[in-house]
Amino acid sequence: MTGPGLLFVVSGPSGAGKDTLVDGLLRSSSALKYSVSATTRPPREGEREGEDYFFLTRAAFEEGMREGEFLETREYNGNLYGTPRGFIKQTLAAGYDVVAKPEVNGALRVKAAFPDAVSIFILPDKFADLRRRLEARRTETNAEIAARLAIAHEEVKSIRSFDYLVINANEQYEAAIADLRAIVRAEKLRIHRYNDGRIQAIVTAS
Ligand code: 5GP
Repeated sequence: MTGPGLLFVVSGPSGAGKDTLVDGLLRSSSALKYSVSATTRPPREGEREGEDYFFLTRAAFEEGMREGEFLETREYNGNLYGTPRGFIKQTLAAGYDVVAKPEVNGALRVKAAFPDAVSIFILPDKFADLRRRLEARRTETNAEIAARLAIAHEEVKSIRSFDYLVINANEQYEAAIADLRAIVRAEKLRIHRYNDGRIQAIVTAS
């Protein structure tokens, strides 16, 4: 390990493909750890406690909020979502890089708390694909899909507050995952990420 890790915040509208892209990114490096969020949303089929989310009752979530356990929280489409503070702080301190996947408002809040974080916005190449993808996954009702699309139109207005934009064109996940990997790699190589000790070690190495 070479010092504090980097925090990557991957965001963008529901249906943009964040889950697939982040899964692909995480598979590419064991130095990257995923920050599992908490939510009051009921689990979808196949979702696992502690891996996809920490599924909490509203009372437990609100208790966590009072205890200051969350870096940020957001009510999204009737459910609470929150980024646990402790995991991110401890994991970065242990030298690992961390990936978090909040919605857009949460991403901006995380970036405000960790100005050194790298924020990445994910968009499909056609906005209309958001609806197609949400309909195809059959996990939301029509009313929920409509609500998510309305939120998406709001979210995209914040795009210029992000550091990077990755376009997730239909069925071309690998290209978008490669873009994410390139961002991670380039960010690791930025000169201010090297502490003087590492540079000095190169200079004095024989
Ligand atoms: P979903 O219900 O589809 O899993 O998530 C709905 C939205 O909540 C997605 O845009 C997702 O990125 C976002 N989300 C997931 N975890 C968090 C979190 O910890 N904080 C915030 N602000 N949003 C989250």
